[in-house]
Amino acid sequence: MIRILPKGSPLVPAVLKVLDGQDRDWSHNLVIFPGRRPAHFLRKALVDSVGGSCIGPVVWAVQDWIDALAREALQLAGRWLEPMDACAVLFEVHQELPHRYGADRFDRVERFLPLGFRLLDTLETLYLGDVTPEQLRRVLPEEPLADYYARFYAQLEAKAYWTRARRIRTVAEQMESIDLSRYDRIVLAGLYAFSAAEARLFRQVLAQPQAIGLFLDGPGLSAQLQRLGVDAIPERAKPATDPVVQVYRAPDRHGQVLMLAEKLQQQRGQQGPLDVNTVVVLPAADALFPVLYHALAALPEDESYNVSLGYPLDRAPVVSFLRLLGTLATTRTPDGSYATAAYLRFLLHPYTKNLRLGRHADVTRILMHTLEEALMPQGAGTLRLEALEQNAEIFQQAAARVASLDESVTPTALQDHLRTIHDRTIRRLMQATSLSDWAERAIQVIDYVAHHSTAPQHPYFRPFADCLVELLETLAHSLLGAVRFDNLGDYWRVFESALQRQRVPLAGTPLQGLQILGLLETRGLQFDTVYVLDVNEEVLPEAPDPDPFLPDTVRMQLGLETRSDAYQLTRYYFENLVQGAREVHLFYTEHPRQGERSRFVEQMLWQWQQQHGTLEEEPWVQSIGYHLDLSCTSPEPIAKTSEVLSILRALRYSPTLLDTYLTCPLQFYYRAVLNLREPETLAQEPDSKEIGRLVHRILQRYFKPLCGRPLQEADLDPQRLREIVEACFAEAYGDQRSADLQLLQERVQHWGEALLAYQRQQLREASPVIIQALEKKLQGTWQGVQLEGFADRIERRGDRLVVLDYKTGQPPALQLDVLDPTDRKTWARAIGSFQLPLYRLLVAQQDGLDVDRVEAAYVAYQNGTIGETSLRVEAPAQWEAVLQVLRLVLEEIQAPDIPFAPTDALEQACPHCPYRTCCGTQWVSA
Ligand code: SF4
Repeated sequence: MIRILPKGSPLVPAVLKVLDGQDRDWSHNLVIFPGRRPAHFLRKALVDSVGGSCIGPVVWAVQDWIDALAREALQLAGRWLEPMDACAVLFEVHQELPHRYGADRFDRVERFLPLGFRLLDTLETLYLGDVTPEQLRRVLPEEPLADYYARFYAQLEAKAYWTRARRIRTVAEQMESIDLSRYDRIVLAGLYAFSAAEARLFRQVLAQPQAIGLFLDGPGLSAQLQRLGVDAIPERAKPATDPVVQVYRAPDRHGQVLMLAEKLQQQRGQQGPLDVNTVVVLPAADALFPVLYHALAALPEDESYNVSLGYPLDRAPVVSFLRLLGTLATTRTPDGSYATAAYLRFLLHPYTKNLRLGRHADVTRILMHTLEEALMPQGAGTLRLEALEQNAEIFQQAAARVASLDESVTPTALQDHLRTIHDRTIRRLMQATSLSDWAERAIQVIDYVAHHSTAPQHPYFRPFADCLVELLETLAHSLLGAVRFDNLGDYWRVFESALQRQRVPLAGTPLQGLQILGLLETRGLQFDTVYVLDVNEEVLPEAPDPDPFLPDTVRMQLGLETRSDAYQLTRYYFENLVQGAREVHLFYTEHPRQGERSRFVEQMLWQWQQQHGTLEEEPWVQSIGYHLDLSCTSPEPIAKTSEVLSILRALRYSPTLLDTYLTCPLQFYYRAVLNLREPETLAQEPDSKEIGRLVHRILQRYFKPLCGRPLQEADLDPQRLREIVEACFAEAYGDQRSADLQLLQERVQHWGEALLAYQRQQLREASPVIIQALEKKLQGTWQGVQLEGFADRIERRGDRLVVLDYKTGQPPALQLDVLDPTDRKTWARAIGSFQLPLYRLLVAQQDGLDVDRVEAAYVAYQNGTIGETSLRVEAPAQWEAVLQVLRLVLEEIQAPDIPFAPTDALEQACPHCPYRTCCGTQWVSA
C-alpha cells in the first residue's frame, strides 16, 4: 500500500497508525526512516499511546538498515572499506592505467589522494546508478573514467572489498533472498531521492504484501516515485491553516543571531520554557557557535537544549592544534631546527599554553609568554628545541614571575615541563616511521592534551576529539597504513585529505528542550515553531561543487542525479519543514559580499505579494536594524594637557605618525602620546608586513656590494638574486617550506627580477646610476620640529639624488593637482602619505643640497611590471602647497586648543584601526 501524505504532515503519528501491534509487543513491525532521529520520536509516541513500556518496533535509518542486511542477512565476506582504503585501491588502479588523469602529476599517493577522494565519489555514484563501463565509454570516449571505473570495481570484487555503493547494490541484487516474513508490517516512511540501485531495492520491499510506503508530498516526489514504479495520487491537501511566515533581513550573521535571541526570548515569555516543538535550523554549521554563545546564552542555565548536526571536523579547535604541529613539522631543517614563528604559534595555542604543571595551567601560560618575549625578537629566524631547553635565563625569569603564584616552582621544574611538552608533542610526531605509526602518535598527542590541559573544558572538545581520534584510527588501520614518507609534511598532507568532508556527528538528546538541527536532521520530523538562519543562496540551497569528471549534461544522459536534483531535494525538505509548522521565522543576510537571499524566500515573497496585491516587501520582510542601537557612541575628542603638549614638542615626527594624524587625530594620540602599540602577532602565513620586511632584506643584501660605483648591466644578475632569495627564505622559514611559502618565494623572485629588468632599462635610457646608501636613517629639524624617516635606497642619477621607497603593495596615491591647502578634505587624498615629502626635505638637508636637486619616488610592482611614482621637482608650486600642508599639520598637532578628535570618516578608518576597543567603535563596519 502506498500513501502520499500532504506536504508538512506529521509523519510519526502516521507511522504509528499503521503499525500492527499485539498487546505490548510491537517487535513484528519494521520501520525505515531516512535518518536516525525519527526513531526516538516514534518510540516515545508508542510508549505514550500504549500507556507504558513495551517491546518497540524494529526501526532503522535507511543506510544503517542496508548495512545490517549486508552484514547479517547476506553475511558479505571480506573487508568493508573506509574511503581512505578505497582511495588506496584506486591509487593502484591509477598507477596501472596508461591513459590516466594528470599523467605523472599524481604519481605519489599523498598527491593522488585529493583527486582520489573526488574520483571515488564519482565512481560510487556511477555504480549506484547501475551505469555500465560500456555506457560510460560511449558518452565519454576520450576520457579515462571508464577504465578507472571498470578496473576499480573489478579489483574490489577480486579482493572481496566492499565500498558503500557495492554493499547497496549487492543488497538490491540479492533482496529476493532476504526473508522479511517475520515482520507483520514493513513501513517505509518519508523516503525521498533514490539512486537506481536503491530504487530496485525498495521496489522489492514495497512488493511485499505487508509493506506500506508513507511518503510526504513535495517538489519532485512524483518523479522519485516513478523510479519505484509507484503511481499514486497525493491525499487531499491538509485543511489546517498555512504557517505564519516572517522574514528578517540582517546586515550580517551577527544581526541574524541577535534577532534570533530576541525572538526566542519573546516566545519564552509567551509560552514558558522552550521544548522539543521548537527548532532552530542551521543550514550552515559554522553558525552553531554564534548561536550557542549569543542566542542560547540568554536562556536560563537549567533549560536544556539539544544540538544535532554534522559539524565540519576541520573547523574544530583540536584540529587547528594538530595543524600547528603539522606546520611546525614542515619547517624542520635537516639539522633539527624549526622556524621560530611556527614554534611560537604552536606554543601559544590555548591547548598548549594550558598544559598543566601539577595543578597549575597558569604557570604554563607564564612560561609560554616568557618564551614568547624571548623569541619574538628573532621573528623569522629558526631555533633548536634542545638549545631552548638549555636556556637557563628563560626559566629563571619565568620562575621569578611564577613566584607570586607558587614559590615552589623552580627553574628546573619549568625546564623539565618544557622538555616534557616537547617530548610528548613535537618530538613524538617527528619520529613517525609509517602512516600507521604517525596516526598512533597523533592519537597519543591528543590523549596527552585531553588529560593534561584545560582543553576538555572547551565546548564540544570531547565529541571533536573523539571524532578526530576515530579518523586517526581509520588512518592507522587503513590499507595505506604501511606507507612511509621521507618528508614528514607528507603525513599531514594525507591527514588533510582524509579530513575533508569529515563531519562530527553532534547527536545530542533528541527528546528534550529546544532543538538545534541541521536541515537534514529535520527529515521526517515536524515542529510548531521553526527558526531558520542563513536563508541565503549558496547556503540554502547549498551550491554543490560541480563534478569535475561527470558534467551535468553527461549525468543526465546516464540517468544520474544532477545539481538541479540536489536543489530539488533541499527544496523538498525545506517546504515540508515550513508547511508542517504553525510559525516560521526565516533570517537572511543582505550584504553585497555575502550573497543574495535564497530563491526559496523569493518564491514565498512572490506568493505573499500576489495574495496581497502589492509589490512591497514590508511588513513580511523586516529589517534588523541593530546597527541603529550602536550608532550612539562616536568617540569623544581628547583635550591636550600641558603634559601632552610637552610630549608633542619633544616628539620626532615620522611619515607614519603624520599619516596617522591625517587619518585620525585620535589614533595619533593613542599611538604617539600614549605609545600604545599594535600587538605583534604571528599569522599562520607571512602577512603583508612580514613580506615587506623580507623583500627589503633581500634587496638590501643584493645591492649592498654594488654601492658607491656606477651600476652596470652585468651587476643585475637574476641568478645571484635567486640565491639570495633562497637564503633569506631558508633563514626565515627553514628548508622544508609549505606550498604556500614556495609560491610566495616565486612571487618575491619574480618581483626582484622585474626590478632588475627595470633597472637594466633605466641604465640603457638614462644617465649612470650610483647607489649611495641603503636602509638609511634620515633625521633633521624643520620649522623647529624634529623630523625623521628611513630611506630604502638613495641613488645618484646624473646631478640628481633620488630617494627610493620599495612598495610590495599598492603605493599611496599621489594626486598633487587636487591639493588645496585651504581645504583639509583634499590633503589625505592628494598627498597620500608624507613619506616622499619628508624624504626630500631630509635628504636635501643632510646632503646640503637645494631641494630641487632631490627627487623621491615609490618603486612598486603593478600590473606585472615595476614602475616609479615620483614626487617630481618640476612643479615648484605643488611642492610649496605640500610644504604648506605639512606646516599646517604640525601646527595643528601642537596647538593647545585643538583636541585630538576622531576622524570624520569612521567607516573608512575604524575597521582597520588597532584602537577600536579603546574607542568603542567595534560596531563600525566598512
Ligand atoms: S577607532 Fe576610529 S575613531 Fe578611534 S582612533 Fe581608530 S580610527 Fe580613530
